[in-house]
Amino acid sequence: MKRRLVLLGPPGSGKGTQGELLAARLGIPTISTGALFRDQMARGTALGVEAQTYIAQGHLVPDRVTNAMVANRLTQADAARGFILDGYPRNVPQVAVLDGILDQAGTPIEAALEMRLDEDLIVSRLLKRAEIEGRADDTEPVIRARLEVYHSQTEPIIDVYRSRGLLVSVDSLGTIEEVSEAVMRALGLEQLDNQ
Ligand code: AMP
Repeated sequence: MKRRLVLLGPPGSGKGTQGELLAARLGIPTISTGALFRDQMARGTALGVEAQTYIAQGHLVPDRVTNAMVANRLTQADAARGFILDGYPRNVPQVAVLDGILDQAGTPIEAALEMRLDEDLIVSRLLKRAEIEGRADDTEPVIRARLEVYHSQTEPIIDVYRSRGLLVSVDSLGTIEEVSEAVMRALGLEQLDNQ
């Protein structure tokens, strides 16, 4: 069974939600760089303060900061049995850094799950999420900036994983349960039994 995965897809494509469901199913943690940054910001750490200005504008936090945070997180005990990376890698240089970390340990990425969703739906979903979760970066101009960053910097890594034969793509249309079923099917896992 695949236990080291990366989640790809634009903001609002359901990566976070599906990542959590999948993690519960596999008994492994999700490692969300966005969530790690938000935690650091809430605690007012130096890392959080540095990340804040970038996040508020929808830009990527510098690789130096992000890569170190992820490398550190991957050494924690709960990641030894596997993990689902949500929001990392987010540009081609981050892929190389992740490869370096994992190759050293002999534990390469086993699958890249791409969540696909139409751009109009993304914006409306994110605006709705802003009402529910109150995320400061879910305003329309920042959403547009994040989508632009996604297209220019993150989308190219889909081809990297495709060329390695690791890419699995799923349409993120439908209810959470429907998409979850599609994800499980795509990864060759059975759907959760009565949960
Ligand atoms: P997310 O919750 O994944 O949408 O991430 C929220 C914000 O955190 C992004 O818009 C970026 O500013 C920052 N961020 C998250 N992951 C990364 C990453 N891998 N590299 C750089 N910045 C990131």
